[in-house]
Amino acid sequence: MKRALNFNAGPAALPEAVLQEAQKHLLNFNNSGMSVMELSHRSKDYEAVHEGAKANLRNILNIPDDYEVLFLQGGASLQFSMVPMNLLTEDGVGYYALSGSWSEKALKEAKKAGRTTVLASTKEENYKSIPTLNLDEIKDDASYLHITSNNTIYGTQWQEFPEVSVPLVADMSSDILCKPLNIEKFGLIYAGAQKNLGPSGVTVVIVKKSLLDRNLDHLPTMLNYQTYAKNNSLYNTPPTFAIYLLKLVLDWVQSEGGIEVIANRNNQKAKVLYDVIDESEGFYKGHAEKDSRSNMNVTFTLPSDEDTAKFLSTAKEQGFVGLNGHRSVGGCRASIYNAVPLENIEKLAEFMKSFKSK
Ligand SMILES: *Cc1c(COP(=O)(O)O)cnc(C)c1O
Repeated sequence: MKRALNFNAGPAALPEAVLQEAQKHLLNFNNSGMSVMELSHRSKDYEAVHEGAKANLRNILNIPDDYEVLFLQGGASLQFSMVPMNLLTEDGVGYYALSGSWSEKALKEAKKAGRTTVLASTKEENYKSIPTLNLDEIKDDASYLHITSNNTIYGTQWQEFPEVSVPLVADMSSDILCKPLNIEKFGLIYAGAQKNLGPSGVTVVIVKKSLLDRNLDHLPTMLNYQTYAKNNSLYNTPPTFAIYLLKLVLDWVQSEGGIEVIANRNNQKAKVLYDVIDESEGFYKGHAEKDSRSNMNVTFTLPSDEDTAKFLSTAKEQGFVGLNGHRSVGGCRASIYNAVPLENIEKLAEFMKSFKSK
């Protein structure tokens, strides 16, 4: 069997070891005679999976005790609504830094829930860089500041997070677990799992407990974070198989040596591709400004649309998958999340060099 050279943006490559582990136990998990998918979500066997996933995440990201770890559904896109529904107060304002399409979508939903303001945006320059924030513009009325830590479509990433006195909310869907984090800088972090954490179907929320103390009984039960916090994310049936795979991915991160090792590897992986771009004498042109480059999504264009089309079709013939840029920006994008092996990236680099010389 030949595995694809998978550069998909999401759902994306999973560690092969994780897939093999899941396969091995697919029919009979922990001698239960059942698949994880067939277990009751109230059973002891499933409880170990659920608690294991939470404990692993706490361990890897060093999450302090005054933060909850929640498992939700509805993707990161539902968080665009849940964040303002839960955190935006009646007399408060949601501050947004716009760095790409996902932050625009987050803002769109927040506007339906209350008052918002755009603190900074790089839309005018087609989101080539991360906006510079003027922190003095954050007034006392701020309920939170929302950022998108990695812009999956444009290939830009915050290199350092702003130091703010209001709760910092981050959509980390496409770069959570790419490097160590200081969780205490954040009020709330959310991430759909299907890029760096596991399969689609589960969304991880890490939230400071003190942000969940408002009376939000008017909210639909399932849209209130308190429901998940009070019931250990088991108020209703959670996506058990997705959480199981999340646990296996987290086990894998630990077995690889932890997040520091993963972070070093990610820098090395990204450098391989950015070096090809930078040494191509303008043949490959990176979309992101150098100081905003993402080490998860590498975006680039070729001299003409014909060249891009030829590049993509030749790459496809050679077994590379998922290199088309997002439909809203065009060009090419290589998504190189934690699970994408260095050797696949080196193969892509070789291909880019040989395509250029031909
Ligand atoms: C993929 C992605 C989303 C959307 O995630 P869904 O789980 O499909 O809702 C949101 N934000 C970012 C940064 C993403 O990369």
